[in-house]
Formats: sequence, C-alpha cells, structure tokens
Amino acid sequence: PEPTETLVDMFDGVVSRHKRRIAVEFFGAQTTYDDLAEQVSRAAEGLRRLGVKEGDRVALVLPNCPQHVVAFYAVLRLGAIVVEHNPLYTDRELRHQFEDHGARVAIVWDSVYDTVDGFPADIGVQHIVAVDMTEALPFGKRLALRLPVPKARELRAAMTKRPKRRRFLSWSSLVESRRLSRRHARPTLDSVAALQYTSGTTGMPKGVVLTHRNLRANAMQCRAWVPGLREGDETFYAVLPMFHAYGLTVCLITAMSIGAKVVLFPRFDVGLVADASTSSPPTFLPAVPPIYDALTRSAGGKSKLDLSHVRFSISGAMSLPVSTVTRWEEATGGLLVEGYGMTESSPVSLGNPMGHTRRPGAVGVPFPSTRIRVVDPADPAVDREPGEPGELLVQGPQVFQGYWRRPDATAEALLADGWLRTGDIVTVSTDGFVTVVDRVKELIITGGFNIAPSEVEEVLVSHPDIAEAAVVGLARESGGEDVAAAVVLNAGAVFDPDALKEFCRARLARYKVPRRFVEADSLPRSLVGKVLRKRVREELFTARKPQPRG
Ligand code: ATP
Ligand code: MG
Repeated sequence: PEPTETLVDMFDGVVSRHKRRIAVEFFGAQTTYDDLAEQVSRAAEGLRRLGVKEGDRVALVLPNCPQHVVAFYAVLRLGAIVVEHNPLYTDRELRHQFEDHGARVAIVWDSVYDTVDGFPADIGVQHIVAVDMTEALPFGKRLALRLPVPKARELRAAMTKRPKRRRFLSWSSLVESRRLSRRHARPTLDSVAALQYTSGTTGMPKGVVLTHRNLRANAMQCRAWVPGLREGDETFYAVLPMFHAYGLTVCLITAMSIGAKVVLFPRFDVGLVADASTSSPPTFLPAVPPIYDALTRSAGGKSKLDLSHVRFSISGAMSLPVSTVTRWEEATGGLLVEGYGMTESSPVSLGNPMGHTRRPGAVGVPFPSTRIRVVDPADPAVDREPGEPGELLVQGPQVFQGYWRRPDATAEALLADGWLRTGDIVTVSTDGFVTVVDRVKELIITGGFNIAPSEVEEVLVSHPDIAEAAVVGLARESGGEDVAAAVVLNAGAVFDPDALKEFCRARLARYKVPRRFVEADSLPRSLVGKVLRKRVREELFTARKPQPRG
C-alpha cells in the first residue's frame, strides 16, 4: 500500500473519527483527541508567530510527555521539520546537533533550558520555549523518577535578572494563542517531516532526513505487520523514548494512526508501569529486550503490574534472546514479535514473525513493499551466493532521503535506485529469514580473518560465571587488532582470565580467543539499552594502564 496522506492529514482524519476517545495519558491525566487537536492548533499558531515557516527546523529536547506529542504535530502542521534530541545528552552532544541543524526555535524541558541558552551566539537558536515539568509531574513523582529537581521558579527569576541571550517563552504562553488560521503552508508527501539523529553507536550521531511519505509508509507497514490491531480500541505504552526513531514511529505515529490511547512514560520504570496498568492496562507494549526482562521479573506474585491484556509487543534495536520471548509470552499470553531496522529506514524494515511462523534467532522477513539484497561489503555491486554472509541492502518507501548536510556520508549509504547500505552483516535462509551477524564496522580484523564480536560474546555468556560480555578489537602497534573481552560476572563468581581463555579455546578457533579480559561492574549502554562497544574500548581498555605481567 502506498501512502496517500501526509502525517497532518492522517492526524486530522484520526481526530475526526475519534474525537472523544483518549489520545494520551500521563500520570493518570487524560487528553482526548479533540483536546489534543485544539492544543496542536494553538501551539502551531504560537510557533507561526515566532516566525516558524515551511522547511524550518524546530528542535525538541523533551522526554515523553503530552507537550511532546502536541509539539510534534504542531511543527508538522506548519510544513516545518521536527528535530528530536535526547534530553539527557550533555552540553557538548547537544551543541554538536544544534550546530548541525541550525534550528531557530527550540522546545525544551526546563532542566535543559540553561544548556541551550548558554550556547554561543553563532548557534542560531533565537527562541526557547520551556516546558515546565512541574506542571505535569507532582514533586514526589519527579524525585522518584530521578528527574532534576524542579527549578522552574528559580529559572524564571534568573531569566528576568540575567542578560538574556535568547527569547524565553513558557509552554503555557505558547498555547495561549488563538487557533491556527488558514493562511499557512501545508506539507506534501515529499516534504521533510523529521530530521532524526542516529544512536551514535559507531560514531557521532548523523541527522537522518525523513519525509512524510517515509514515516507514513513505515507506519502503514508496521500496521500491516501486526495482525488484528483494533481501530480506536488499543492502549499503547510509550516506555521507549519518542526522540528515538523506534519510539517515534511506533508510539507517536502508528499508534495515533489508529486512534489508540498512548500512555506516556518519561522514562522506563517498573513501578510507574505497574501503577498505570491498574487503571489503563496495556494491550500493546513496544520495547527492547532488557525492558521485557525487567517487567517479567516483577510480574506475578504481589505485584500490581497487570499484563493480562497485552496482545502484542514488538522488540527491536538489538537481538532478542529466545528466553526473553518465552518468558514474556508466558507472562502476558500475547505475541512478542521482533523488528529489525535503523533510523535510516524510518526505522523498521524486517519483522519476525510476519504472517509466517517464527524463526527463533532470526530478525524476520522484509516488510510489505520492501526488497533486500546481501552483498560483499567491500563491493556492494557484487551479490553474495545464497546463504553466504554479507552486508544487507534495503530498498522501499521507508528508506530515507540522505544525511542532513553530509553529501559524502549520504553517497556512501545510499546507492543508485535507493538501495540503503545497512552496515550490518547478515545471512538469509533459503526461505527468506534474515539473521543479523554483526556490524561491518565492529568486525575485528586480526590480520587475515575477520571476527564477529557477537560470536565470541555468545560463547562467553554461555559460561556459568558470566552475566554479560562485550568483545572489541584493540589496535596492535604492528597492525591488525587483538580480541579483547569485558565481562560482568554473576554474583559470587571469581574473575579468572586464564580459566575463561581455556573455556573459549575449547569452543572457538584459536584466533578468536580473547587475549585480554577485564572485569566490569556493568557495560556502557545507550538509552535504549544497546551495548556501546566504542565506549567499552575507550573506558574499559585504552584508558587503563597495561596490567603488569607476571
Ligand atoms: P550509528 O548509526 O550512529 O552508529 P546506530 O546504528 O546504533 O547508531 P540506530 O539507527 O538507532 O543507530 O540503530 C540501527 C542499528 O541497530 C542497526 O543497523 C542494527 O545494527 C541494530 N539493530 C536494530 N534492530 C536489531 C535487531 N532486531 N537485532 C540486531 N540488531 C539490530
Ligand atoms: Mg547506524
């Protein structure tokens, strides 16, 4: 199915069909689709008065909250471009992104206000709209969430004293405006809707340009993938951040395209999910494997966590262990499906199962209207023999337009005819199921043979003493890389590198056995829970002095 409507038309359609239904819920406070549309219209008018017009970027630095949803659709309404940011990013990380996209207006939660206002003058932000989290969150909740202590009042006081670099506006005054009048641009299917940054697992995050067509097509594909979604009668739990492509597509777009109720969580917390589940039990819970594990651990017994209405869940962003699927499906009685994708494919492109039987360990088959190829990573014109590992290429209506202002990176990632180089090494079975092996960039080059870190990690976590493992390559002075492993031990286990080496030797070819081991308390992970091997290398290996031999 080809998209025929923009995200704005989609939103208008759903509002007219589901006026009185609940659109969003946040700590028990509910907003209907009608009220949401009213706020979107006012916020759009407020932004128009700040000079936002077609093609402008508007930066959002917000956790999941009702204002986030309103801001998203208000920006789109003006034909402008939403740029999402991780509100827990540091000054340096945010500054890098603001330099890159050059937004004039930023909508931020109060704790980031100072950071954005403190940017040097050559960063183009002129107006900052501050969302006061205390308006939405009771004080106790805020502390329980470990969000920064409310400082809105101090902030306002400081604003009146301090020489202002930027214009300050509170969210409530932004939405005090009248409704948007008719005189404004409307986006088309090929207008840019979002500039979405990648996770930065392998380098600095890159801005991914996605059109209304890309995002609408992906929401339609996601919908076609999940059997039996009931229009106007689902409760989606948004525990994944909406500033990440995955949370955005599933909870902000797909959920709203069918008039679902979206329960918003500013961060994942088992207690908060349990609280909400007593009055608005979830029917659909998209998340990542560590979240499913945390929820199943606490379900049952005296917990008030009610998962009995969950019919579907989608896991993505990292490989999904079979044990996680089994435990989750037992706890809920619903189906857990795995999605594979990347920000550049807005974001999902494969699903498992998808009208097929499930294949444990695989990430699935291509979405409707999506084609794939497996090629030689050194020369993507050369296709691999069936069954041979190679780099996955994807083509379809969800594939992005390019990286923002990075023609070189775009030319590398987007081949002729819109084939996207995923940077992931996969194998495809004869019946079309794709299995992810590892990232091309993280393969370890020992000289001659390449090693997929995931293969070594799998062996390590099969050791009874090891809870988690991350394997990386460390550059040798003589060229090539050494295999090194960071391990997190189970409680009570003793760190014994020689025994671990012995264990690996019995299970892996000699060149794959790690030469160095370190013990870690935990592994550095991204906000959605991916192990950041780059930081493992920097923080657990190169920063350390070589261990004395002896
Ligand atoms: P960057 O591109 O900045 O280095 P990133 O690739 O982690 O960061 P995302 O676009 O969020 O940024 O993640 C996409 C990647 O996540 C994919 O290329 C793939 O490596 C991994 N991934 C996604 N889904 C799965 C899955 N189901 N199983 C295994 N890996 C997955
Ligand atoms: Mg990537």
